[in-house]
Amino acid sequence: MDMGLTKDDLDVRARAQEFARTCLYPHEEELDQNDFLPDDKEATIRQGVLHFRLNAINHAHDVGGQDMTIVQQCIVNEEVGSATNALWARVWQPPVCLKDGTPEQIEKYLIPACRGEIRTSFCTSEPTAGSDAGGVKTAAVLDGNHYVINGEKCFASNAEFAELNLLTTVVDGDPSKPTLFLVDHGTEGFNIRRLPRFSQRSGHGHPEVDIEDMRVPTTQMLGDVGQGYELTKDWFVEARLAIAARSIGMAVRATDLALVWAREREQFGHAIIHFQAVEFMLAEMASDIMAGKSMLYRVAQEIDSGLDRKTAHAKASAIKLFCSEAGFRVVDKAVQIFGGRGTMCENPVERLTRDVRLERIWEGTSEIQKMVIGGQIRKRGLDMYTGWD
Ligand SMILES: Cc1cc2nc3c(=O)[nH]c(=O)nc-3n(C[C@H](O)[C@H](O)[C@H](O)COP(=O)(O)OP(=O)(O)OC[C@H]3O[C@@H](n4cnc5c(N)ncnc54)[C@H](O)[C@@H]3O)c2cc1C
Repeated sequence: MDMGLTKDDLDVRARAQEFARTCLYPHEEELDQNDFLPDDKEATIRQGVLHFRLNAINHAHDVGGQDMTIVQQCIVNEEVGSATNALWARVWQPPVCLKDGTPEQIEKYLIPACRGEIRTSFCTSEPTAGSDAGGVKTAAVLDGNHYVINGEKCFASNAEFAELNLLTTVVDGDPSKPTLFLVDHGTEGFNIRRLPRFSQRSGHGHPEVDIEDMRVPTTQMLGDVGQGYELTKDWFVEARLAIAARSIGMAVRATDLALVWAREREQFGHAIIHFQAVEFMLAEMASDIMAGKSMLYRVAQEIDSGLDRKTAHAKASAIKLFCSEAGFRVVDKAVQIFGGRGTMCENPVERLTRDVRLERIWEGTSEIQKMVIGGQIRKRGLDMYTGWD
C-alpha cells in the first residue's frame, strides 16, 4: 500500500492549515476570556470555511459537500483540531446519517446544513443513559400522523441554538425500537432547562433539555422505526476518527510549542533542551504522535480502499482510544516543559489541556472503547488489530 499523500491531499492540508492559522488561532484568547465571539467574528470564520472549501467535508458534492476521502477528512480534522476552545466545531460537518433522509428531508435539512445555513445538534445522552446509550428512555408514541415525545436529554451540544436537533428516542418506550427524529428549533415541548458551564470555553453550550408532550409529524422520522442505532453507526466511525485526528493535531501543536520553548529557556546556564529529562519528554511525545498518526492514516486509507463497515467500526475504537490517550499524555508533557508558564491561560498548551481531556470521554469513553475492542478480540480474534497483510 502506498502510504504517501496525493497531490489533492496535500492541497487539502495546505488549505486547512492556512484556515486554522489565519481564521481560528487569532480568536482563541478572546473566546477563552469571554466565552463567546461577537457576530462579526463568527461571520468571518464562516466565510473562511467557505473560502477554503472546508464546509461539509463529510458529504457528497451533489448535496453541497466537499466529497473528501476519509484520509482528507482526517487531514482537515487534524489541522483545525489544533485550534483551542473547540474552534474546530465552527467547521461544520452535518451528521452523516442525514444522507439517509427522504428526498424532502435532504432538501430541507441536509443541503442547507452543508451550506452552513442551518446548524445541528445530536441529542442522545440522558441522565441515566451515558455510556449505556442503549438505555435511552425518551419515548415516542404514535398519535394519528404525529409522534408525541416525552423525556429528557443532557450534554446536547448546540441544542440551545441549533436550527435542527437530531433526537434519539425509543418508540413506545421499547428499547428494541430506537428511532431518530428531526426536530426543528422552537418546536413546542423542546425546552432548554439548564446550560451548565464546562471546562472547555467554546462559546456554545451543552444543555439539559426537557421534552414534554412534543408533537412531531411522522414525516420528521429519519429512517424507520427501530433504525436509530443502525443509522448512527457510520457517525461513530466518523466521529471517533475525527477525535483521533484532532488529538493528534493538538499533540503536534503542543510539541512544536514545547520544542521552541525548550530551546529558548535557560536554567542553570543551559537551554533546558540539553537536560536529558526534557529531551526524553520530547522523545516520548514524538513517538506517541508517530504511533497515533501511523494507525490513524493507515486505517483511513483502508476505509477509502473499501474496508467493510464492521471492521472499520472495530478499528476506529482502537484508534480513538490510542490517539486520545496519547494526545493527553503529549499535551500534559508540553505543560511540564513550559513549567509554570504552561498553566497560564494565554498559553495555548494550557487551553489544549482542557480540550484534549474531553477527547477521552465523549463519543465513548476510553473504557467503552476497550470494551468494544475486547469484544471484537473475543469474537474475531486478534488479527484484525495485530495482523498485517
Ligand atoms: C462537553 C460534552 C459534550 C457532549 N456532547 C454530547 C452531544 O452533543 N450529544 C450527546 O448525545 N452526548 C454528548 N455528550 C455526552 C458524552 O457522550 C458522554 O458524556 C459520554 O458518553 C460518557 O457518558 P457519561 O458522561 O454519562 O459517563 P458514564 O457513562 O456515567 O461513565 C462514568 C464512568 O464510568 C465508566 N463506565 C461506564 N460504563 C462502564 C462499563 N460498562 N465498564 C467500564 N467502565 C464504565 C466510564 O468509562 C466513565 O469513566 C457530551 C459530553 C460532554 C462532556
